[in-house]
Amino acid sequence: MVDLKYTPVEEIEKIQATLRNGFRSGRTKNIEYRKYQLLQLAYMLQDNVKRLEEALAADLGRPPLESQFLEIGPSMMDARNAWAGVDKWAKTERAPFSINGFAMRPVIYKEPKGVVLIISPFNYPVWLCMSPLAGAIAAGNAVLLKPSESTPHVSSLFAELIPKYLDPELVAVVNGGVPETTKLLDLPWDHILYTGSGQVGRIVSAAAAKHLTPVSLELGGKSPVFIDPNCDIELAAKRILWGKCVNAGQTCTAPDYVLVPREVQDKFVNALKNSMDNFYPESVATPGVFSRLVTPQAFNRIKGLLDNTKGTIVIGGEMDEATKFIAPTIVKDVPTNDSLMNEEIFGPVLPIVPVKDVEEAIAYVNSNDHPLAVYVFSQDAAYKQKVFSRTQSGSAVANEVVIQPGIEGLPFGGIGPSGSGYHTGKYTFDMFTHLRASLDSPGWLDKILGFRFPPYTDKSIKA
Ligand code: NAD
Repeated sequence: MVDLKYTPVEEIEKIQATLRNGFRSGRTKNIEYRKYQLLQLAYMLQDNVKRLEEALAADLGRPPLESQFLEIGPSMMDARNAWAGVDKWAKTERAPFSINGFAMRPVIYKEPKGVVLIISPFNYPVWLCMSPLAGAIAAGNAVLLKPSESTPHVSSLFAELIPKYLDPELVAVVNGGVPETTKLLDLPWDHILYTGSGQVGRIVSAAAAKHLTPVSLELGGKSPVFIDPNCDIELAAKRILWGKCVNAGQTCTAPDYVLVPREVQDKFVNALKNSMDNFYPESVATPGVFSRLVTPQAFNRIKGLLDNTKGTIVIGGEMDEATKFIAPTIVKDVPTNDSLMNEEIFGPVLPIVPVKDVEEAIAYVNSNDHPLAVYVFSQDAAYKQKVFSRTQSGSAVANEVVIQPGIEGLPFGGIGPSGSGYHTGKYTFDMFTHLRASLDSPGWLDKILGFRFPPYTDKSIKA
């Protein structure tokens, strides 16, 4: 177990001042400089794949292949895409033609916001640091990165590698927990991106409001799955189970619970059992096969939810406190007032809530906070359209789960309690960019616009 070195609180202001000086030096205005930093970021990831995999395995017990395709690969892709896209993204834009304005040559400069703060959670500790960092660098900002203290191996690795690869006057890491983050939040920033729970999101928003700092919040929630009784149940079960099992359910876009028409519940459970046998032919408890809960507190929270459920456990239920292991657990006949339905589960437990029909399912989802995602398994366009058009969520996904943040070109973000603001790819660049409106008005224009100057006589108005 690595000992994560926390940044002394009294050094934090100095670190921010260094970043501000770095930003004011003006070197990030140069696109070639940004591209060089982005290449360095990509090399940092490429050179250290093995160490990142090991750190993720130590922090989360995660199988290396899962780390590869869920985090390390996407982080490299985001760094490379930012490198490839920044010339176009940062280009000054002409305003659309208007007869009133064209003579003043109105343009939009894409300017960096300045010195920005990125606070990241534990669940995808590489991607949720590296992807926003790539966008913030591409946009020309200086960045303070605050990784999660719950993943000490990854966070220590960042503290070691980032100063070696990136300009230390433009990117800095502060490690720590609540006191260090509270100190960071006492300071004024030019933008804050917070990814994590809604509870802490409220603390971040309140702190930012004191300085009128703009904030983007990437939060969580209970993402429901709708099952059309006529869908391909085997396919639905396989994909939903996978979405609940990757990273042991600690995924913001994980399917939280499933709304199943009562008459197909048992068929769905049987299909989940088949997938479970196929995914884990040997014991799922074998080290390196299935991720662990991140902390003893997270383990105890999930255990508490399961201890109090009124539903019936039909798959899994095994746990081991010493290794923070909880097996993929399926609970059927879960009522809507159950312990499993009060909060985001964020663990490998899937409640199945039987419903009369899609109307009852829609009404239930609409009686709760807007989730990060709404999932539908159906081959019927009208069914999918009904669910999507009558609910609200960060994303609307049919016949798939979890992977929408990784699809290039799609914005990723929540709505209301599941977050505000969009990221990945150009959307991250936009988040960290100020659109500076500009014009340059020629003197001859007063021949046409001279009427605006007092005195306001009838003649001047006619002109
Ligand atoms: P968290 O809110 O506990 O921690 C996230 C960060 O906030 C950490 O860096 C932590 O140090 C800091 N923090 C914790 N308590 C704080 C406090 N009192 N004051 C100031 N800072 C504090 O979140 P977590 O448990 O690491 O992450 C899980 C949550 O994140 C889930 O709700 C999940 O859905 C959400 N999430 C959302 C996205 C998204 O993109 N929408 C992605 C991943 C995770």
